[in-house]
Amino acid sequence: MSRFWSNVTQGLTPYVPGEQPKLANLIKLNTNENPYGPSPMAIDAIHAATDESLRLYPDPNADRLKDAIATRHELERRQVFVGNGSDEVLAHAFLGLLKHPQPILFPDITYSFYPVYCGLYEIAYETVPLADDFSIRVADYVRTNANACGGIIFPNPNAPTGKALTRSEVEQIVAANPDTVVVIDEAYIDFGGESAIPLIARYPNLLVVHTLSKSRSLAGLRVGFAVGSAELIDGLERVKNSFNSYPLDRLAIAGAVAAMEDEAHFEQTCAAVIATRERLVEQLRELGFEVIPSAANFVLARHPQHDAEKSVLALRRQGIIVRHFKLPRIDQHLRITVGTDEQCAALIAALREIISA
Ligand SMILES: *Cc1c(COP(=O)(O)O)cnc(C)c1O
Repeated sequence: MSRFWSNVTQGLTPYVPGEQPKLANLIKLNTNENPYGPSPMAIDAIHAATDESLRLYPDPNADRLKDAIATRHELERRQVFVGNGSDEVLAHAFLGLLKHPQPILFPDITYSFYPVYCGLYEIAYETVPLADDFSIRVADYVRTNANACGGIIFPNPNAPTGKALTRSEVEQIVAANPDTVVVIDEAYIDFGGESAIPLIARYPNLLVVHTLSKSRSLAGLRVGFAVGSAELIDGLERVKNSFNSYPLDRLAIAGAVAAMEDEAHFEQTCAAVIATRERLVEQLRELGFEVIPSAANFVLARHPQHDAEKSVLALRRQGIIVRHFKLPRIDQHLRITVGTDEQCAALIAALREIISA
């Protein structure tokens, strides 16, 4: 604490991102980055944009990028909002669309940034427990008028469980709450889930948030977007233009446009991650792990006979880092990002040793 801090600052509980180690040569399976590089076309576009025009501000509306996203998802430009990582897009959605007198709803086990935004913007929330098998129960989000909520947000697939709802399950939640905004955070949707984007034509209360950090392998560039009805997007633009007019720099716009256009690289790398995930799940189960079925680029797994925290430390001694959450219900789980086949083989070999020790 410092006497120079405002009351708001004193009351914050900031998000703690997964470690970005300074050591080279670690097998880094802790923050759900893509093990493959981004589209070579994105890298070329960033190089090409690196010139004296950097003296000029970027397009405040990033229209080229909005158009590339709109084309890819068969939408109009006015249905697309872009931001400096989907974390920023989410922050604007919390302030601009989810801050109401009634509490918003999200699962008890979910992306741990949501309660942080609620703290920052003083948004009331209620957490809704996942079922025993860690699935989101649709019925829990179908409220009567008497206990209406201020909004709903969850990732699909959920993080850190990896479990996905089908599009029709998401639709039931969106349809049951026509007067509240439902935000579906689809950070991991490209690894096997069904996107809710086709629903936005029929549901003006649905906002779908994507990131280029995971499936497009551009976590370092910081680009995310939201798609939804023009009225929701307008709300986000009002917040953005009251906060930072130029959230995307010239290099980010250039790289993101090229990444959205390189469908072949995207398809190929997503397919590789999915194939490796399936092998990893099988091998973890052979070692006695219970693995939650995952539609994401990570898996959440627990070994009934081995303490999770001890396993994390033992892996670390072998140069492998995975994520562990000291949270109720999942403190005996490891969250393992799907790496390359070689990285996953090294992980399995290390776990086999740890388990037989
Ligand atoms: C990674 C992640 C994000 C944030 O992505 P950025 O675009 O890198 O800010 C948002 N939501 C969930 C659930 C994530 O896992």
